[in-house]
Amino acid sequence: MTQQNDRGGWWDRLRAKLNGGSTVDPEGNAARPRGEGPRDDTGGTDGGADKAEARRKLEEWAASCERPAWRPVVADDGESTAISRFGGAPWLPDGESVPRCETCGRELQLFVQLELSSLPAGNSTAKREGVLQLFYCRGGTGSGKHDECWGEGGWEPFSTEVKLARVVPETGLGQVSPDSGGEPPWPAKVIASWERFVDRPHPEDHAAAGLRTTYDFQSRTVLLEVDVVGVAERFGIDELPVEQIAMAVEGDKLAGWPCWIQGAEYPCCSVCGDTMEVIFQVDSVDHVPYMFGDAGIGHISICNSHPDVVAFGWACG
Ligand SMILES: [Zn+2]
Ligand SMILES: [Zn+2]
Repeated sequence: MTQQNDRGGWWDRLRAKLNGGSTVDPEGNAARPRGEGPRDDTGGTDGGADKAEARRKLEEWAASCERPAWRPVVADDGESTAISRFGGAPWLPDGESVPRCETCGRELQLFVQLELSSLPAGNSTAKREGVLQLFYCRGGTGSGKHDECWGEGGWEPFSTEVKLARVVPETGLGQVSPDSGGEPPWPAKVIASWERFVDRPHPEDHAAAGLRTTYDFQSRTVLLEVDVVGVAERFGIDELPVEQIAMAVEGDKLAGWPCWIQGAEYPCCSVCGDTMEVIFQVDSVDHVPYMFGDAGIGHISICNSHPDVVAFGWACG
């Protein structure tokens, strides 16, 4: 959460595209149609009232897209028996030992564990049963402590190289201490409560949510259109950046809208092929002391028809 301003990824690609578009003029002139005077992208005198109305409608659209999301509020482990937590020793089915990394053979660290039935009401995951678990290998370069694990496919949603993402039945689960010969687990952070907030779609999800953006790189303008609120207005690209209209929140969170670093990467269920639902966002060095690549953000997804199909993918800039 401390590297918000360093997050290149999505922003950089858009800015590069825009800047690239502004320098294609073979004569090196500013990116303005020849013969036109300076454009007024400020909204001050050119269609100001229309733009104000368009802004109001765009805000109406953004508000209509809001989804509830919840930030975990954590406490030190202490004597807590709460299942939902970050880090610590995992809860495992009877007779199972701590899962190991397919690549380096070390025990995987429990990153996130959520008791699905106890999640906040209003979230679709609240209808689910079982315990969601994300295990990941600390041996990769991300931890900064090891470099002995050469698995590089951890970012792929269904790769099992260096991780295990699953839902296990709650019945019969017990907390299991890791192998005493291995590295001790991270100190657990118990999720004591959830703090609700409203989240808005990341620009990568704007189109699917109904906002069409048509960029004109020559004039450095963007046409913003939302049919449901009846808006179609052209703005200067720096006058109303789409991320100002709606943007998903970074950090660890339940539900809401995913904050993408690259494109929108909703996995498809390996059984039915349907788009999976992102239910939990795991950010770098928020509640888990681990960096996914260069300040990457990960997402745990579940299929609504096949609750046993769980994916965890991440991307960095
Ligand atoms: Zn490993
Ligand atoms: Zn499915």
